[in-house]
Amino acid sequence: MATNVSAPGGRAASAPLLGHESEPTMFELSVSGRSSYQLRTTGVPATPLDQLVPAEHLSKGTVALAELSERDLVAHFTRLSHRQYSVDLGAYPLGSCTMKYNPKFCDAIAADPGLNTVHPGVPAELAQGWLELLVSLEEKLCVITGMSAATLQPAAGAAGELTGLLLMRAFHQSRRDVRNRVLIPDSAHGTNPASVTLGGYEVTTIPSNDRGLVDLEALKCSLGPDVAGIMLTNPNTVGLFEEEIIEIATAVHDVGGLLYYDGANLNAILGAVRPGDMGFDIVHMNLHKTFATPHGGGGPGAGPVAVSARLEEFLPGPRAVRGANGAYEWQRPAHSIGRVHGWHGNAMVLARALAYIDVHGGDGLTRVAQLAVLNANWLRKRIEKTLPAAYDRVCMHECVLSATKLKEAYGVRGLDVAKALLEEGFHAPTVYFPLIVDEALMFEPTETESPQTLEALAEALERIEQRAIADPDSLHRAPQTTPVSRVDEARAARHLVATEDAASR
Ligand SMILES: *Cc1c(COP(=O)(O)O)cnc(C)c1O
Repeated sequence: MATNVSAPGGRAASAPLLGHESEPTMFELSVSGRSSYQLRTTGVPATPLDQLVPAEHLSKGTVALAELSERDLVAHFTRLSHRQYSVDLGAYPLGSCTMKYNPKFCDAIAADPGLNTVHPGVPAELAQGWLELLVSLEEKLCVITGMSAATLQPAAGAAGELTGLLLMRAFHQSRRDVRNRVLIPDSAHGTNPASVTLGGYEVTTIPSNDRGLVDLEALKCSLGPDVAGIMLTNPNTVGLFEEEIIEIATAVHDVGGLLYYDGANLNAILGAVRPGDMGFDIVHMNLHKTFATPHGGGGPGAGPVAVSARLEEFLPGPRAVRGANGAYEWQRPAHSIGRVHGWHGNAMVLARALAYIDVHGGDGLTRVAQLAVLNANWLRKRIEKTLPAAYDRVCMHECVLSATKLKEAYGVRGLDVAKALLEEGFHAPTVYFPLIVDEALMFEPTETESPQTLEALAEALERIEQRAIADPDSLHRAPQTTPVSRVDEARAARHLVATEDAASR
């Protein structure tokens, strides 16, 4: 195969990419007639194509595909990967997303041909191992959350939310109970109100109090016989534990509503407290966050939904269950809302999550939560002079800091701090979320980062503060040293060019 050929544009295809130099597209690297495979000659004369495929099904023209050798293709993607930041490269404190390091052990499990060569449509008798895996995962997720049964089908957290709301609807409908509102705190993740609307309900927003928690009195005033339920995450999106959760649960149950738990923040409470014990009826989990599988730009998710016993009959189906004779089989719950996935869910994410749970064991999962909470509080305290916390209290697995002070003193905003952090070699925190905090910077260090890494992150933030004092304008232009410098975010969102000629526009 060709090596080190000169790519159109003059640059050697295998030259390392430095600084701002842009990477050509595969089409720009394409050389007619080149390919990444070769077929062995067999001695059997080749059959002309039009004898194999009826003429009307043959394409008349050529298909516009890039033609590259394997060598050049691998170099292309390797260079692109060098322009990227990832959980494998360093700390990724993107609050609410739980971007922890994903252990390679879980990838090794998912790479097992015994798992990944099985077609999801094979009869249950031929896939007993897979069904056992799914049943085992469901049982463990129920133990962790304190629920009775679960569906593993939803493909991500947001898909789990919609599934949960359809379950809520099916439950009330089965009792001929007409309800049209779902309550959501004003700090909630944007997917919550979107899911409520998709689920056919109206959103009623509950204000937070000055401690960053649900205002219980305001909640009670909003309750009535038309309330189908409430969606909460605990700890909430400000990283604080809802201390009055039992009072909230009682008040909602008293009017016949259900409690939905957005489990995106489960990482904070593993092995310490369970949503089921707090009074929740429906719980979604983000396996890709809590149980460490590549997500975001790096891979698919899984959003299983676990329910209390009274909702089990409505779960999506078919579900893998252990049959009377000990063999595993697919079963459709009696009043199932139907499928929410073409097959059984994102199976390899499910396999990775079970591997993660099993390799940690109960004590190990508790330790995950303890260290996640410890790391967030360590960072919150360490950096409080530069970026004070929005609510000066012990937080859970993430801390919401505010850049208001820097904005007022030097005109440097939270966005500038986040962009400058990229130049310092860290991923940015989540910015401007939750909406109720001015200049919010939401850091979630996760349990996988060492004290040395957290100290380096704090020092980087202190250097950014020094730059804000000395040369605030340089922060408005940051980042300058990354492969892609500061983009015009408004223009990027309004003039989306998603084709290969984007760079030339
Ligand atoms: C991530 C997240 C979601 C949505 O989950 P996806 O898997 O991204 O669809 C919902 N709620 C909260 C609080 C989250 O952090």
